[in-house]
Amino acid sequence: MNLEAYFKITYGLYVVSSVLDNKLNGFISNTVFQVTAEPGQFAIACSKNNFTADMIMQSNVFALSALQKETRTDIIGAFGYRSGKDIEKFVNFNYKIGKTGAPILLDDSIAWFECVVSQTVDMGSHILFIGKVVDGDLIDSAGEPLTYAWYRDVKKGKAPKNAPTFIDANKLKEQAKTNFPQKYTCNACGHIYDPALGDPEHGIPTGTRFEDLPENWVCPVCGAEKTEFSRIEN
Ligand code: FE
Repeated sequence: MNLEAYFKITYGLYVVSSVLDNKLNGFISNTVFQVTAEPGQFAIACSKNNFTADMIMQSNVFALSALQKETRTDIIGAFGYRSGKDIEKFVNFNYKIGKTGAPILLDDSIAWFECVVSQTVDMGSHILFIGKVVDGDLIDSAGEPLTYAWYRDVKKGKAPKNAPTFIDANKLKEQAKTNFPQKYTCNACGHIYDPALGDPEHGIPTGTRFEDLPENWVCPVCGAEKTEFSRIEN
């Protein structure tokens, strides 16, 4: 089985959010899809380990925001790679509370929907929630949606471990191994720092060793600190 075949399936990236007992939470999902138009219904797949999934199970409501192509890395980091059990994800961002009470992320969102759950399907490791649309709006009609393929290829992002599309980072590391030492990987998101490429986004020139990166350098994908990187052994 060639794991790379999975990467030819296309997905968008969305913040899926919910509310329970005044606690707001959300996560980045790439398995959001419209299943019917009349009535408007969406399906979302959530890991059973996902805190937001627990909340949706109990509240029966969720909102989703379609992220734009140039979504800030701190949004990817907060919603994609941190647990709502540890942090309040929405406090640093602009959001509004929808009709269902679920928070709707407005920063870097080009459209949003709110849904009430009509069915849940147990998929083993994941739960499929199907929800009827009760509200929605367009924020930026010219905005281009962020796709998983673009995020993966251009931003070198890897799916968080709860994502249905997660491919074991160790397997990818095997494939990424080269004769060049001193590559490091982000323990939070799996991004690989390659000295041969540097980090153009943060103005780090090609050829810069990981050890020579400034101490305040952070992962260009998820915002994790330098200390959260591990050396890839060849
Ligand atoms: Fe990272």
